[in-house]
Amino acid sequence: MHRPPEGAPALCVIGLGGNLDAPADRVRRARESLGRQERVRELAFSSLYKSRPMGPQDQPDYVNAVMAIETSLAPLDLLDLLQSIESLEGRVRLGERWGPRTLDLDLLLYGDQVIQHPRLVVPHPGLAVREFVLHPLAEILPDLEVPGLGRIRELAEQCPDNGIEVMVP
Ligand code: ATP
Ligand code: MG
Ligand code: MG
Repeated sequence: MHRPPEGAPALCVIGLGGNLDAPADRVRRARESLGRQERVRELAFSSLYKSRPMGPQDQPDYVNAVMAIETSLAPLDLLDLLQSIESLEGRVRLGERWGPRTLDLDLLLYGDQVIQHPRLVVPHPGLAVREFVLHPLAEILPDLEVPGLGRIRELAEQCPDNGIEVMVP
């Protein structure tokens, strides 16, 4: 696996989403919380989007966004940070796959790294087929290359339509 020198800043993309208890506020707070970290700098943040649930359909619509950051945190340290913010926002894992949640923070991309670790798979395996990831990403980084998969713009164009909408602020 190609690794940049320890601490060299990497461009990373975080996917934010949730559908319980004022999820738009939770997504905004997560953005602020990430931006306040010493080793994280925000580069871009998409609009908020409303999307239909994946998996179980008997749950509210989701609020989604993506955030591009530059960070010198190592991949697993960044995952720890994301999971600590999820916990602060009341995330409880109930065992149902893709069930309702207050806040989900997924590490979609970490530079051009390909990572296969028991706790962390990057690029995120859902990235190339999820409208709620590709549409917001096409808004902020259309020319970004996903290792092994191609450019965001083309991936977004090929992605099946599932009724995603930009939320009016
Ligand atoms: P999905 O990953 O399909 O979007 P999910 O986000 O609902 O599903 P979670 O319950 O948030 O899944 O996470 C389950 C586990 O996935 C976490 O404990 C984490 O270790 C692991 N994981 C693997 N790769 C990633 C990644 N790229 N970003 C976030 N978590 C990851
Ligand atoms: Mg997820
Ligand atoms: Mg997750």
